[in-house]
Amino acid sequence: MTPDEFRQRGREVIDWIADYMERVEQYPVLSQVKPGEIRAELPPQPPAKGEPFQDILRDVDRIIMPGITHWQSPNFFAYFPANNSPPSILGELLSAGLGVQGMLWATSPACTELETHVLDWMADMLGLPEHFKSSSTGGGVIQDSASSAALCALIAARERATDGKSNLDGADGRLVAYASTQTHSSIEKAVRIAGLGSRNLRLIETDNHHAMRFDKLAKAIATDRAAGRVPCFVCATIGTTSSTAIDPVARIGEYCRAERIWLHIDAALAGTAALCPEFRHLNEGIELADSYAFNPHKWMFTNFDCDCFYVADRGPLIRALSILPEYLRNKATESGAVIDYRDWQVSLGRRFRALKLWFVIRSFGVEGLQARVREHIAFAQEFAGWIRADDRFEVAAPVPLSLVCFRHVGGDEINQRILDRVNSSGRMFLSHTRLNGKLTLRLSIGQTNTQRRHVLQAWEQICAAAS
Ligand SMILES: *Cc1c(COP(=O)(O)O)cnc(C)c1O
Repeated sequence: MTPDEFRQRGREVIDWIADYMERVEQYPVLSQVKPGEIRAELPPQPPAKGEPFQDILRDVDRIIMPGITHWQSPNFFAYFPANNSPPSILGELLSAGLGVQGMLWATSPACTELETHVLDWMADMLGLPEHFKSSSTGGGVIQDSASSAALCALIAARERATDGKSNLDGADGRLVAYASTQTHSSIEKAVRIAGLGSRNLRLIETDNHHAMRFDKLAKAIATDRAAGRVPCFVCATIGTTSSTAIDPVARIGEYCRAERIWLHIDAALAGTAALCPEFRHLNEGIELADSYAFNPHKWMFTNFDCDCFYVADRGPLIRALSILPEYLRNKATESGAVIDYRDWQVSLGRRFRALKLWFVIRSFGVEGLQARVREHIAFAQEFAGWIRADDRFEVAAPVPLSLVCFRHVGGDEINQRILDRVNSSGRMFLSHTRLNGKLTLRLSIGQTNTQRRHVLQAWEQICAAAS
């Protein structure tokens, strides 16, 4: 494809995306295909000769689109959002066009410096403590996901707890990590990958609001210490995946400080709410944390992948992950004057992700971002009000932000029926969880273009499905 052809095809693809944005509401939100249906449409062998671009784009419509679940539909209320926005898409496109590998400062200085700068902006935008900024002892880095951020936090914690020995000899079986029963599954995955082993992860009981019980955590840590084990890592969550429960970060943080245990905060979804001063109370206690992660790729209009990961002290992270083979040696690295982000993550290579985040922040402006987030939260609060006012339904957990956990009072069977009915209608997509053993429906608001009318329609469909 020549640059001229690219110009033409590129315009067609942009038009395709713009058309998609305009008609996304017309598709069934949840893809209705059966397993294997998409593959059955694809030829068994790859083409020997290049095909015309029109044919490829036509097959996107014909073969791919039926198998798409429309995360960018304003009627998508399942899981947590993975929203995007036009400026983010354009930033992603430009990143692909430049095609740089940002593993070292020297391999594209702008890739590193823009990332450092935008993450410092983000720290100020969210009211994060000064020590999370690059001008202090810590700093931020963009990871592909909150899962990777948690793994890096755990590896840094392991490094610090063993004075580097774990990197030389492996984890020694005495290291223990703590999270709550409601903590995201990525913590257990990290514990496995980092070599602590799932048996050395303590899942701490939660209270009736699904937040970690501090007394149970302190007791578990004391028991492990008494048995000669080495508590090294606690993950507290601000906004759990099931119900956006908020762990008592300040109490946990004080205890971790006193015990010299690494505290990681997982605020994958909820972190975004701290853009608004009225939700900054979510940050209470985070000055006590060693690391913090949130996902602009969930609720901040930046398409996947983009997780912002901050550490209060970059030392242990870099010591744990830095490896310098001869072929990557360069003057800038040796001068110590630059950041090489490959030392802050698992993989060596890295994409220019800061571009899309920069585009989003500049296009929306802080006030534009705040306005969307406020609106989503207000819609969720209003929806929770409708649930409370209807005696067929109950709100199943506190609603601090934009997720409403609710259920029909008639039991699991009718809730399952409501879920199946609304999701097979194609007009909306809800997901579920289990709270206190009961099937619970989750309405999660956060797609960029969700308006009050979409939430109202969702409520009407839920009511119809219940009758
Ligand atoms: C979504 C979520 C994650 C995982 O996010 P990825 O970026 O997909 O790894 C982790 N923790 C919480 C609380 C989440 O909601």
